[in-house]
Parts: sequence; C-alpha cells; structure tokens
Amino acid sequence: MDINKEELAKIIDEVVKALDDNVCERKSQSEGDYGVFQSMNQAIAAAEKAQTELQANFSVQEREELIKAMREEIRKHVDKIAKMTVEETGMGRPEDKVIKNNLAIDKTPGTENLRTEAYSGRDGLSILEEAPFGVICSITPSTNPGPTVINNGISMIASCNSVVFNPHPSAKKVSLYVMKQLNKAIINAGGPANLMTAVEEPTLQTVESCMKDERVSMLVVTGGHGVVNAALRSGKKAIGAGAGNPPCLVDDTVDFAKAASDIVKGASIDNNVLCTSEKVVVALDSIADQLIDCMVAENAQLVDNPEAIVNIVINEDGTVNKEYIGKDAAYILESAGIKPKNKDVRLAIIDVDIDHPLVRQEQLMPVMPLVRAKDFEEAMEMGVKIENKNRHSAIIHSKNVDHLTAFAKKIGTTIYVKNAPSYAGLGAGGEGFSSFTIAGPTGEGITSARTFTRKRRCILVDGFSII
Ligand code: NAD
Repeated sequence: MDINKEELAKIIDEVVKALDDNVCERKSQSEGDYGVFQSMNQAIAAAEKAQTELQANFSVQEREELIKAMREEIRKHVDKIAKMTVEETGMGRPEDKVIKNNLAIDKTPGTENLRTEAYSGRDGLSILEEAPFGVICSITPSTNPGPTVINNGISMIASCNSVVFNPHPSAKKVSLYVMKQLNKAIINAGGPANLMTAVEEPTLQTVESCMKDERVSMLVVTGGHGVVNAALRSGKKAIGAGAGNPPCLVDDTVDFAKAASDIVKGASIDNNVLCTSEKVVVALDSIADQLIDCMVAENAQLVDNPEAIVNIVINEDGTVNKEYIGKDAAYILESAGIKPKNKDVRLAIIDVDIDHPLVRQEQLMPVMPLVRAKDFEEAMEMGVKIENKNRHSAIIHSKNVDHLTAFAKKIGTTIYVKNAPSYAGLGAGGEGFSSFTIAGPTGEGITSARTFTRKRRCILVDGFSII
C-alpha cells in the first residue's frame, strides 16, 4: 500500500491522540480528582466501585469513623465555602451561609439514624434491616450548594451508599470544592476513594444521562418543580424535594415584638433563598399595622410604593426576575429607586393583596409580601392558597391552641413551625435533626440516612427466640 508522508503523519497523530485519551481515561477512571471526573460514565463507574468496597469492607462503626472525619475536615473550610458560594452564585449572605453549613455539619445524623427491627416468637427470629440502594444520583440546587452536598453526602454514606452529585451548573465550583474536601477526609481516614463523585462540567445532559444509567438505583432531587418532575418520570426510585412557598400566619394573640423578630430573622436568613423561609405573611387586619411597626423595629423596611419593586423583580410574563434572587434588600431597594433605611436592612415589606405575583410564587429574595385577612378562617384559607399544595412548610404565630391545631390540620405541610423563625424546622433553634433535602412531593419528609435505604428481612426459623 502506498502511503505518503502527510497521510502517515495524520495516522500517527490519531494513534497518539487515541493513546493519550486512553491513558487520561484510565488515569481519571482510577484516580479521579478526589471524585471529579470528565465523563458521567467514569463518575458512575468510580462511585459503583467505591460503594462495593464500602459495603464489603467497612462495618457500621467504621462508616461512622469516616463520617466523623468528613465533619471534622469540612468544618475547617466553612468560611471559605460561604465566601465562594456568594461569589459564584451571586446569592445570599456569607455570614448566613456559615450558619447553614455548620447546621449541616453538626445536625445531619450519621449511622445512629439507622434502625433494626426484630420480631421474635415461637417461630424464631426475624430482623428487618435498612440496607443500601447502591449508587445514588443526587441533584443539588444553587441556593444551598454547600449544605446540600454535606448533608446528602453524610446521610447517603451513613446508609452505605455512594453518590454521584449533579450540582447546579451555577454552583458547580463550590459544590465540587466541598465534595473534594469530603472525599479527601474519607481517604485520609482509610476509606474508599470516590464515595462521592461528579463530572467536572455538570449540565442538563449529564443529569439526564445519570438519571437513565442502569448502575444508578435511586434519584434524589433537591430543586424546583421542573427537575423534580423529570426525576419522577424517569422510572427509577426517586425522592423529590421541591419548591415551596411557606405562608406565615399571625393572629391577634401574639407577642408582637417576638413574632416580628422571628419573622424577620426567618425570612431574611441568607436573603430568603431557603425553601423553608417565610415567603408571605398573612396577618389579621386588626393587628397588621402593629406587626409591621414591630418588623420595622427589627430592621425591616415598609415600602410605600410596592409597584417600584414589582417593576424590577417581576418579569413581563409574571415570573420572578432571577437577577434579584438572593440579593440584599438594600440592593433591591436601591435598584427600584428607593432609599434603603441602612445598608444592612434585612427585609423589604410590601403590603399587597392575595393575588399579587409575589404572593403566588416563591420569590427567594428579601422582599416580603404581607396580606391582610379579616379573620382567622380567612387567614387559613389564604395560607392554603399560598402554599399551593407544595406540602412543604408553613409557619404560625399564635397563643391560641385551637388556631395552632386548626391550621396544622388544614395546611398539611411537611414542616409546621409554631412561634419561632422558620429555620427552627431545620433544627436551628428547634429540636430534631437537620436536612437540606425536604421531600414534600414524595413524602419522605426531612430526609436522613434511613431515607436512602431498602428494607430487607432476614428470618431464622426455630432459633434465637428466648421467650
Ligand atoms: P433548579 O430547579 O433550577 O435546579 C436544581 C437542579 O436541577 C440543578 O442541578 C439543575 O441543573 C437541575 N435542573 C433544573 N431543571 C432541570 C430539568 N428540567 N431537568 C433536569 N435537571 C434540571 O433549582 P435552584 O434554582 O438551584 O434551587 C431553587 C429551587 O429549589 C427553589 O424552588 C427551592 O424551593 C427548591 N429547593 C427545595 C429544597 C427542598 O428541600 N425541598 C431545597 C433547596 C431548594
């Protein structure tokens, strides 16, 4: 066969490139960059191998040691994570991000969350154990990137799974940074590499390929309605933690200063990007002015001309303008041509009616619509309308036990906070563990290690029963 010099050079180039690709592929396949891979195929393969090793060689106690190492290591990075998140996403407040990340570190349960049930009797002993699913695909949001990776990472490894993260593209840098530090901690503690993996460039296509991959046995989605619905259509076991629009009812029995302080704290933490934060205040008309005065005393600002704000934060099609999501109240006010009362003002209040566009959809910004109800019955109806069957969160301020109970029954949310800032429902200043994946649509609620398990029964007939 005749071959000229140019053709020969081309063939050599192609062969060298193919060899290079193969070497690169093998290198990152086996090593990754503390869990970061170039392709989804590599990320899933590495997570699968790591899970097999974890299940085969690590006892529950040894898994707990890995989790301890993850908590200790990531705690050293909290300030950096907070700063990186605000820089990358343009949302939230660094000091509040520190609180959220610490909450995930301190109050995400580990292996102690897993339960074994036993049934013993004449026929012997049966035990019901919580076993891993295998490889989980976790889709994480831009609004709480650090806490969600920490929280899901701990919970999923505690239940002996591995996880392929698909971080939101606009929070990929910080999400991958957090995941890498957690993986380093595991390796340094003697655990398997790649218990958490991700691709370098997460996109909607990588989400889709992860959702379809046979090696992935469970999808856990923390995000808006769109991605939750996509996961539910996938045909795989899916846990959906979707959007909310928490109403906050206030009746005439409250201590106004305390209720106002709680509302401003809960609604303004991290500039309202938490899905659990108060999104609309529903106050009895008889006390609304008094409540507003108390909120203003807590560094909120009543906006005389709500239209000025609406003009910038609502798009022509009625949707929320993403440019203002998670921005400081002072920035939003200034952008609307309104002078902020000070540069650290926490919340802008707009006194509007129930059909206002900021009432009927989650705003994720420190602009708080307040609507007035003529009595408690109407307030409850409004609350139900605002929550819109998200089954997410609701808050109430009242000293009337009948009111507290009646609204709980009507609203049916996963989280129901009484007389406290909304974040008490996440375990910050409230009892109970913490989670940043609140599975309302699929009903698992505040997720933890045991959420990510399969129940298995093991039966021994005619033995081990001592009764
Ligand atoms: P988002 O829905 O834009 O993105 C979440 C993730 O889904 C990202 O990783 C994104 O890349 C991916 N994604 C988005 N649309 C998709 C689609 N159609 N198909 C496949 N993947 C898709 O959410 P966000 O803006 O990052 O987060 C804010 C939303 O998430 C809010 O609605 C908030 O209430 C909700 N949220 C809920 C919880 C909860 O626990 N229930 C926690 C945090 C955030």
